[in-house]
Amino acid sequence: MPRTLVTGGAGFIGSHLCDKLLALGHHVICMDNLSTGKIDNIAHIRDERFLFIKQDVTNFLFIEGPVDYILHFASPASPIDYLERPIPTLKVGSLGTHKALGLALEKKARLLLASTSEVYGDPLVHPQREDYWGNVNPIGPRGVYDEAKRFAEAITMAYNRFHGLETRIVRIFNTYGPRMRLHDGRVVPNFIRQALANEPLTVFGDGNQTRSFCFVSDLVEGIIRLLLSDEVDPVNLGNPAEITINQFAETILRLSGADLPIVHHPLPVDDPRKRKPDIGKAKRLLNWEPTVPLDEGIRQTMEYFQKRVAANPELMNRPD
Ligand code: UDP
Repeated sequence: MPRTLVTGGAGFIGSHLCDKLLALGHHVICMDNLSTGKIDNIAHIRDERFLFIKQDVTNFLFIEGPVDYILHFASPASPIDYLERPIPTLKVGSLGTHKALGLALEKKARLLLASTSEVYGDPLVHPQREDYWGNVNPIGPRGVYDEAKRFAEAITMAYNRFHGLETRIVRIFNTYGPRMRLHDGRVVPNFIRQALANEPLTVFGDGNQTRSFCFVSDLVEGIIRLLLSDEVDPVNLGNPAEITINQFAETILRLSGADLPIVHHPLPVDDPRKRKPDIGKAKRLLNWEPTVPLDEGIRQTMEYFQKRVAANPELMNRPD
C-alpha cells in the first residue's frame, strides 16, 4: 500500500485528506507545526498506519523509509491568519514548498501542491479558468499569501520540467465544512458563530461581492482524483454555484432560524469582487463535479460548531 505524507495534515482540509487516504488503504504521515492546525482534528484517528510529526515544513524534512505521495497543504489559509502571520505565510509557500519538493525528489514521490483561487487575485475574467494569469497586487496585505502560492506553483513546475518530478497542482476555491476554526475569520465560520451567539452578521462592504462555496467532502474527492490523474498543469476545484455575501448571510439566517440584523463593516483591502471557478477542466479530465448543495453542507457545518461549543462553551469567546 502507498505511503503518503500530508503537510498541514492537522489543518481543516489536510485532516480530511488524512481520513480519506487512510480509508483508501494508504499509510499516512501527517506533518504540521500546529500554528493554525489543531490536534483535535486528528485526535479521532486510532490507526497504526498513521504517524503524526510535529514539524515546520520550512525546516529540512527528513522522513525515514519510502514515500510515494506528498500532498503539500501546509499554510495559513484564511485572510486573518495570513495577515497575522505574513512572514511565516511567505516562508511556508516558498521555503516550505522547496523542502517538500526536495523530499519528493529524494523519495521519487509524486507531489500535489495545494494552490488557491487567490492566484487569480481580484479577477478581471469571470468565471476563472486555469489559463487566466490573474490580477494580483504583490505588495498589498493579501500579497503574502497570493504571491507565496504563485511562487509555489512556479517552483513546482520547475521541479517537474527540470528534474522530471511528478507533480500536480490544485487551485482550491472557497471551501467549508467541519473542522474549520470558529475564529478563523472566514465568512462561513464567522456568520455561523454570530448566528449561534445571537449577534448581528457582519457583512464586509456592500455585500455584493461574490463567492462560490464548496463542501470539503467534494473537494477531497476531487483532490484524490487529481492526484491519481496524469494532469501536470493546474486544475481548479471548487463549486461553481456563485452567490453574493448578502445572499450568503440570508442563507445562514434561514438555516439557523435566527432573526438577526446584518451590519456592514469596511471591505478589506484587495478583497476580490467576484470569484467563481470554471470547472470544465476538472469535469473533463477527472469526471468530477461537486454534489453537496450549500444548504446541506451548511447544516453539517453548523452541527459541527454547535457540538464543539456545547462541549466547550468558552470557545465562543476565545480564538480556537
Ligand atoms: N466577509 C464578510 N464578513 C465576514 C467575513 C468575511 O462579509 O465576517 C466577506 C469577505 O470580505 C469576502 C467574503 O466574505 O468578501 C469571503 O471572505 P473569506 O474571508 O471567507 O475568504 P476569501 O474568499 O476572501 O479568501
